[in-house]
Amino acid sequence: EEPLVATSLLREDENEGSLRPKTLAEYVGQQKAKGNLEIFIQAAKMRNEPLDHVLLHGPPGLGKTTLAGIIANEMGVNIRITSGPAIEKPGDLAALLTNLNENDILFVDEIHRLNRQVEEILYPAMEDYAIDIIIGKGPSANSIRLDLPKFTLIGATTRAGQLSAPLRDRFGVTLRLELYTPAELSRIVARSAGILEVPIEGDGAMEIARRSRGTPRIANRMLRRVRDFAQVRAGGVITRGVADEALSALEVDHLGLDAVDRRMLESIIENYRGGPVGLETLAATINEEAVTLEDVYEPYLMQLGFLTRTPRGRCVTPKAYEHLGIPFLGMEQL
Ligand code: ADP
Repeated sequence: EEPLVATSLLREDENEGSLRPKTLAEYVGQQKAKGNLEIFIQAAKMRNEPLDHVLLHGPPGLGKTTLAGIIANEMGVNIRITSGPAIEKPGDLAALLTNLNENDILFVDEIHRLNRQVEEILYPAMEDYAIDIIIGKGPSANSIRLDLPKFTLIGATTRAGQLSAPLRDRFGVTLRLELYTPAELSRIVARSAGILEVPIEGDGAMEIARRSRGTPRIANRMLRRVRDFAQVRAGGVITRGVADEALSALEVDHLGLDAVDRRMLESIIENYRGGPVGLETLAATINEEAVTLEDVYEPYLMQLGFLTRTPRGRCVTPKAYEHLGIPFLGMEQL
């Protein structure tokens, strides 16, 4: 069975597509990003031009791919979806670009993982809608410039800081997606339940929302698990009680922390006296990947105020001690 949070969050769920909103109006939350996009989309349409290149960043599962699809839909253009690691050679990218139609969108997920040679093809493509192709070999090699249709690149990344400066600078629009509030997530859960045709009570949706760590993908995943429980135990209706029972059985606590969160915090407390401890050291201690801890686990622990990042490493706060039921002995503990 797939864990609810874990590394698989970095990948997309198989049947996630059916729950994706198709319009900006259906897209819950992210008011700031949405407000900006509305203007940019309208202006581009009025000028009959492609939208400026857009960089979306934020933790996995917050709706970057969904938003790219919505932008395409609102602009009335096609979208081609690929990812940084999938584009291995400059020729792969050239093929993608030359097959676009005017004003189309190319969506590149995990754009921080593009290799250097491929990235260099992207610069003139983004800037001048052209690529330079080398014909022949050795001293007789020639470079020719090939014009491309005007297009919009939408890049998505969990880590804007890892993008090279030349690439980052070529995006006209940068939007940061934030973790969702429980109220927003409960709207998403209620909407998804409607699509899945599962009856759900208001406080059942809220219980799932509160435990899904600010992340729609996790909320939708939890909804599917809770639905199974409701079917077998409660005549099919998702109530608060059945949500609590199901999520507790999955070892998700009432704030949404799972076994990895707890191991992470407890390890800092037990092995490093509450911190500071470097990310790599911590990852090795609890046998997880540093990138997973940083992208998937830390944003929510920091939002809860359970973890802080200092120049010397990660520290656990008194609030986290309290949640875990471990006595905090104050500064003398350090
Ligand atoms: P990302 O690309 O950031 O990893 P996705 O776009 O794949 O995230 O979103 C994951 C799932 O969460 C989607 O299936 C979608 O149904 C849901 N989702 C994400 N953002 C929203 C939103 N703002 N409103 C409703 N559902 C959303």
